Amino acid sequence: MQPTTPTEAPQMTHTAPLDLRSRAADAVRACGADIPSGDDVPALSPVDGTVLHTLRASSPEDVAAAIECAQQAFSQWRVVPAPVRGALVRRLGELLTEHKDDLAALVTIEAGKIPSEALGEVQEMIDVCEFAVGLSRQLYGRTMPSERPGHRLMETWHPLGVVGVISAFNFPVAVWAWNAAIAFVCGDTVVWKPSELTPLTALACDALVRRAAAESGAPDGLHAVLIGSGSVGGQLVDDPRVALVSATGSVRMGREVGPRVAARFGRCLLELGGNNAAVVTPSADLDLAVRGIVFAAAGTAGQRCTTLRRLIVHSSIVDTLVERVADAYRQLRVGDPFEDGVLVGPLIRERSWQAMSAALDRARTAGGTVVCGGDRMDRDGVYATPALVRMPSQSEVVREETFAPILYVLSYDTLDEAIALHNNVPQGLASAIFTLDQREAERFLAADGSDCGIANVNIGTSGAEIGGAFGGEKETGGGRESGSDSWKAYMRRATNTVNYSTELPLAQGVRFGR
Ligand code: NAD
Repeated sequence: MQPTTPTEAPQMTHTAPLDLRSRAADAVRACGADIPSGDDVPALSPVDGTVLHTLRASSPEDVAAAIECAQQAFSQWRVVPAPVRGALVRRLGELLTEHKDDLAALVTIEAGKIPSEALGEVQEMIDVCEFAVGLSRQLYGRTMPSERPGHRLMETWHPLGVVGVISAFNFPVAVWAWNAAIAFVCGDTVVWKPSELTPLTALACDALVRRAAAESGAPDGLHAVLIGSGSVGGQLVDDPRVALVSATGSVRMGREVGPRVAARFGRCLLELGGNNAAVVTPSADLDLAVRGIVFAAAGTAGQRCTTLRRLIVHSSIVDTLVERVADAYRQLRVGDPFEDGVLVGPLIRERSWQAMSAALDRARTAGGTVVCGGDRMDRDGVYATPALVRMPSQSEVVREETFAPILYVLSYDTLDEAIALHNNVPQGLASAIFTLDQREAERFLAADGSDCGIANVNIGTSGAEIGGAFGGEKETGGGRESGSDSWKAYMRRATNTVNYSTELPLAQGVRFGR
């Protein structure tokens, strides 16, 4: 971080403009992908608003054909032994490693992440491939003691079918990989509808899967990518051949997708918006807390589902902490993510700034004070300085997810009050407590503590590892992806009873006939 005085606007150093268009095209080509040109979907870079390419959207016929092809591939793929399926994912991981720089460049160009975060996102794909390869030898079913003599009772896990993956712009590739790598080892095929804001990154990944599939002898149709907006995704949602719809995005999207999949008795895995908070208690290590808070709140320009949006601080330390966070905020460099030293890149689009500016107005009306940030920078692209806002109480605007860098600060006097404030939002994704008091930490993790899918101690809300199950409760949708036993969502379970005796005893001692 470069120090600036509190009154200075965040600075950026001007260098020769980068040719984002050719850089993106080179990276896509290096991964072996063709770009379907057309007039429907403009791929824009939030870095400076450059139109990178205009793509042809997938037609309804394209979507139907992709699903049909995936279904046919499924009938072959499901009988390939799981460890052999793992070999495909191992190869995919190798190709992702080989093309790490190309893919990270695309993530920066299309989503605006700083290179270190973009590389981290690609690394997350590589990590989940590694996890999935191991998993391909560990798709364990249980054996249970049967109540009947000469019987064996067990459960087996089988491939599920075609998985439709719908993903958001802010993790243009990692979330897809969480789904695809696990789905492949589970014996499923995948049709992916990435965000219409990040199509080039998706085409590059699709080309790498196709290459891994061809080299591993996997069937054609194992993977397909669809280009277009929500209506293209809607076809995946409604098609009964899609056994599981794994949808990541806003609560608004989940409200449309969830009931439609349920209406056809399909399976749905929803990863929706968050409104994440951290509680900071009087015993907290404030040096560590400030670092954790600033990365979680301002990193990725506040555009992570796990971004820290609410800080709930004990009244005895709130003034000190606000001062320290504000000081760190004023030193953050906001600007072109390709420039050295920049830590906060652009917002994805104009609408994001409008939402941010409207939320700040509402916060002021509710009695809030903007301590620092919240300004739009005068340059191409949509750049805003992360805002720190002290709120007198938890008003409606604090209960909503505004997908931009706004951190609301609330204060509390008792831990019960802090936990009540913490849980008093409709979303339930990520949470944290900064404390050196073990009783407080344990209380936060207990059944009557944080109600989120992710609850951390002395670490911020964002930046999860792939080994754990990722997801959240309440309006966040209840889905779990990535590590732990999340794979079970991608398989169907069968309970098997085998009679190896010469008798036919009925369960529960039931007698039927003689
Ligand atoms: P969005 O809801 O606008 O779009 C997400 C995806 O859904 C896109 O591919 C879009 O085309 C598609 N879509 C939209 N409406 C659809 C419909 N009716 N049918 C089918 N598909 C539809 O979200 P966004 O702006 O791209 O991403 C930001 C949001 O995503 C935030 O709310 C963020 O919290 C959330 N998010 C959640 C997680 C998580 O794991 N919980 C991860 C990343 C992002």
